Amino acid sequence: MLPLVALVGRPNVGKSTLFNALTRSRAALVHDEPGVTRDRHYGVCRRVEDRPFMVVDTGGISGEDEGLAGLTAQQSGAAIDEADIVVFVVDAKHAPLPVDEEILRRLRRTGKPVLLALNKIDAADAHEAGAEYARLGVADVIRLSAAHQRGVDELVDEILERLPETADAAVEEVEPDRLRVAIVGRPNVGKSTLVNRLVGEERVIASSVPGTTRDSIHVDTERDGHKYRLIDTAGIRRKSKVDEAVEKFSIIKTLRAIEEAQVVIFMLDASEGVTDQDASVLGQVLDAGRALVIAVNKWDGLSTYQREQTRAALDRRLVFVPWAESVTISAAHGSGLRELLRAVQRAHRSAGFQFTTSDLTRVVEAAVEAHPPPPVGGHAAKLRFAHPGGTHPPTAVIHGGRVNKLPDNYKRYLENYLRQHYKLVGTPLKLEFRQGE
Ligand code: GDP
Ligand code: GDP
Repeated sequence: MLPLVALVGRPNVGKSTLFNALTRSRAALVHDEPGVTRDRHYGVCRRVEDRPFMVVDTGGISGEDEGLAGLTAQQSGAAIDEADIVVFVVDAKHAPLPVDEEILRRLRRTGKPVLLALNKIDAADAHEAGAEYARLGVADVIRLSAAHQRGVDELVDEILERLPETADAAVEEVEPDRLRVAIVGRPNVGKSTLVNRLVGEERVIASSVPGTTRDSIHVDTERDGHKYRLIDTAGIRRKSKVDEAVEKFSIIKTLRAIEEAQVVIFMLDASEGVTDQDASVLGQVLDAGRALVIAVNKWDGLSTYQREQTRAALDRRLVFVPWAESVTISAAHGSGLRELLRAVQRAHRSAGFQFTTSDLTRVVEAAVEAHPPPPVGGHAAKLRFAHPGGTHPPTAVIHGGRVNKLPDNYKRYLENYLRQHYKLVGTPLKLEFRQGE
């Protein structure tokens, strides 16, 4: 299960700068991703590829006006309760205040590992600052400059050392031929209705499952000879109006479900379209490299005219995942579900596609022949050979001279060329470039 790291500290110490440094997606995916705005508060750190973790920026705890109430106040308090590790961020330019000691006392009472991140060392006498904070008695102090990307990898190492192993029993227990499919989307788009449809009558009511806001429910089902484990993020119906803190934490559940899944069904309400939050979650699916199918639900409620409008609007909003299939469905009436699952199977097959070295090199050569790289500063990149770099998502490693200068639109051209040649749908495709002669 994707662990959670909370960044805590007073305002202006550099939490959001650190958050961005940790969660900024590595340039592996060649998309500009127009329309994708990262959620400010939750993100996933993928600096160590096979050990991602979630990061939450808890906002500021200003001791003066809020006192300890600031800590127990909804967001920070809840985030700390849910976190596996707390990173207490302080500004090395200033000596600790009494409120820092208070915050630390409260953090210690949680019994969670606490790392002290001494930020802005570029602007402070690190030795002096270290001594000041040493009297707070935190053993684990990391000196860093979030703004200058110094010490961030060291912080990640210290975090990973203290995180529980990410081995996920729920994932490991699954038979190899059972496909893990997450169903994600905003509240009320119809996720529960879809799960109920897919599972049919024999659905076990979830009340026996330890249902918290952080856990998804896993339901196994079989359709048209294929086995599925549905990762249902809707889970238990909440009768009362959901308070904000609880609702926020469904983002945690969503990110975890994406990580656990092989294929993500991203569900939209046809009459509501794609919100910024939707785009942000889709960006996370991309970063995680997961196969993706978009289910446009409640299609039954629309007139022919509205359907046309909706299709056009979706195409515009989903330009950053042009390879994802959109399937219009009505979960309530059960229409479109067979087509939805076919798209899921296609996406999964594409995600597992294996290139071979000789074939891939030939196809890259053909792409270059049809449309050579443009010269940059008088010299064009020269692509020499390519080899497979893995699956889920399929990855092509391309070697050559000056490939680090390839313009983004040329990388996109190559990606599209490979996509069309290999008929890859529903999966990200990763191109890695290795500089060399
Ligand atoms: P937050 O309120 O804790 O989220 O703090 P921000 O991330 O918004 O940063 C507050 C200010 O500190 C901004 O002006 C940042 O540019 C600056 N800052 C953040 N990290 C560093 C750093 O490593 N060194 C220096 N010199 N300034 C930093
Ligand atoms: P969730 O919060 O995403 O799990 O959404 P629900 O499955 O609880 O559905 C929210 C509301 O949308 C309920 O009132 C459903 O009856 C309704 N709904 C779900 N699917 C459809 C559909 O295909 N068409 C229509 N018209 N309504 C639907």
